Amino acid sequence: MSDTLANLLSETRQFPPPAELAAAANVTDAAFEEAKADRLEFWAAQARRLHWHRPFAEILDWSNPPFAKWFADGQLNVAYNCLDRHIEAGRGSKVAIHWEGEPGDTRTITYADLHRTVSQAANALTDLGVTAGDRVAIYMPMIPEAAVAMLACARIGATHSVVFGGFSADALSGRIQDADAKVVITADGGYRRGKPSALKPTVDEAVSRCPSIEKVLVVRRTEQEVDWTDGRDVWWHDVVDSASPEHEAQPFDAEHPLFILYTSGTTAKPKGILHTTGGYLTQASWTTHAVFDLKPDTDVYWCTADIGWVTGHSYIVYGPLSNGATQVMYEGTPDTPHRGRFWEIIEKYKVSILYTAPTAIRTFMKWGDDIPAKFDLSSLRIIGSVGEPINPEAWMWYREHIGHNNAPVVDTWWQTETGAQMISPLPGVTAAKPGSAMGPLPGIAADVIDDGGNSVPPGGGGFLVLREPWPSMLRTIWGDDKRFIETYWSRFGAGAEAGDEWIYFAGDGAKRDDDGHLWLLGRVDDVMLVSGHNISTTEVESALVSHPKVAEAAVVGATDPTTGQAIVAFTILRGDVPEDEAQGDALAQELRNHVAKTLGPIAKPRQIMVVPELPKTRSGKIMRRLLKDVAENRSLGDVTTLQDSSVMDLISSGLKTGK
Ligand code: ATP
Ligand code: MG
Repeated sequence: MSDTLANLLSETRQFPPPAELAAAANVTDAAFEEAKADRLEFWAAQARRLHWHRPFAEILDWSNPPFAKWFADGQLNVAYNCLDRHIEAGRGSKVAIHWEGEPGDTRTITYADLHRTVSQAANALTDLGVTAGDRVAIYMPMIPEAAVAMLACARIGATHSVVFGGFSADALSGRIQDADAKVVITADGGYRRGKPSALKPTVDEAVSRCPSIEKVLVVRRTEQEVDWTDGRDVWWHDVVDSASPEHEAQPFDAEHPLFILYTSGTTAKPKGILHTTGGYLTQASWTTHAVFDLKPDTDVYWCTADIGWVTGHSYIVYGPLSNGATQVMYEGTPDTPHRGRFWEIIEKYKVSILYTAPTAIRTFMKWGDDIPAKFDLSSLRIIGSVGEPINPEAWMWYREHIGHNNAPVVDTWWQTETGAQMISPLPGVTAAKPGSAMGPLPGIAADVIDDGGNSVPPGGGGFLVLREPWPSMLRTIWGDDKRFIETYWSRFGAGAEAGDEWIYFAGDGAKRDDDGHLWLLGRVDDVMLVSGHNISTTEVESALVSHPKVAEAAVVGATDPTTGQAIVAFTILRGDVPEDEAQGDALAQELRNHVAKTLGPIAKPRQIMVVPELPKTRSGKIMRRLLKDVAENRSLGDVTTLQDSSVMDLISSGLKTGK
């Protein structure tokens, strides 16, 4: 990006918080004042929301940047914070998890139940030879044992590495090898789209290439036949159910490694992001309290992510449980057995806080407004979004059709690397704009800068960076300090040359609007350079989605002899557009003109293709680099993190026939 990003989209709609919500909000404007007055003391106060076995005196040690230490002389136990202290406060009979299996089976798990099972699992893991500092891989469906496994590791100081249960044997073995894990916790399978899908065969294949693995601990979920390796494989119900429920949580240093998690792999080979204990839990816990305004006594919270992603770590397991929340956990897909499943679950459990992803919201838009309209969603009071920029039209649809036009939408920007939310409206404070993540949370120093490292003025665009360390920041890339420094800290120089400032480069483009609010513009790698103007994929995609016939769009810059790069758009239409119209030239022309009208002629796509699907990662993010390969007639790059590889055949064959 030689220039700053063009700032094309303008949005004037703005929605202040409902007065009642604002009046009772957990966090008010005062938090910004406190953080401004003393940033470190602000975070220390949030850390003190946790139970410390040994209180910390030191807040931040930044003497060896970019390797941060937070609360380093303190000691705590993450599982104790998520379980024991709620029980000690007399809340053991409170429901922690309303679990809903895809086939319709359910389980209700109280904090006392969860504490008991986690203690048993901690004892069982210890008996299997796992000790503090060992790595444990977790490859599970969305069943309560997944959370139990994570908490049991945390309880004994083992570092978990959760690998999404949809990944291949190659992906799993690569991650096991990289982390040098000793044990894998898995299940025979899980339910997905109405049928049992197997996990154990993938583990067997992966582990055959992983000499470090000593034990495979298997939960029985689907009762499928499984191959069994005696001496290595152990049934969960044999060793966990019979283990003692007595387990005293030991304190660990605040900087003890809590987990490794590999990034989604949207742009490159996944990186093993390392998170530690005290700072991570501080920010995961406080943001849950602040951004979701979570009231543990009255709210029912539901995050629809998979525990294989960072969202599942911070906002299913550690954030909600450390706050003593009651939450829903769902095993399956949103369309099984019908397309109203999410709304049915919300109605059934009276969910009051929902956290989901733009990819899901756009899918619901495509399926039609009439589906959520059939359910009672009046319990919802806050609705959140994470994972990609949310197009303003998708934001409006979410607010109107799910949030009954008054639930604040919190669009939360963060990354695997940041560990917890960083930029987001606060639901009781911020008058949010559709499509904007608004501003950094209290205590977070986010900025948008140009190539030279200067903050861009209102109206400008550039690189999103973080100027100060934050508690839940990644500590390194597992086993690769060099890649850690190169990837995140070298873009804008660091240390002495940069005036001793270490600037974290997030890899995303952003703009600051005239009111100073932040808009995420997608990956810097995806920014298009058209006739000398830097144009963000996000803005062109949002312009396309604002057309009533479009549900979803992905845009790339393809090499062009006259303009340098030209905009090529791949679009999915809403369900009610007839096939002959979808494939006709008139619609493509109409959409090109619509973009030109919305954003200006510079952003008019050279080419618009109607496609049935878009290539996405397993966590639902659009993989533009593959579309760029298609648009430039190249063979496809790395597709290992792609959700469904047949999508690319569909797209390419459509192109060959000129459609
Ligand atoms: P990789 O780093 O391997 O390419 P990834 O970046 O997709 O994978 P994650 O850490 O899961 O892996 O995703 C973080 C990224 O998701 C952010 O850098 C940003 O691009 C995008 N993102 C997340 N939340 C938002 C949001 N609210 N608005 C805009 N973008 C978001
Ligand atoms: Mg990333």
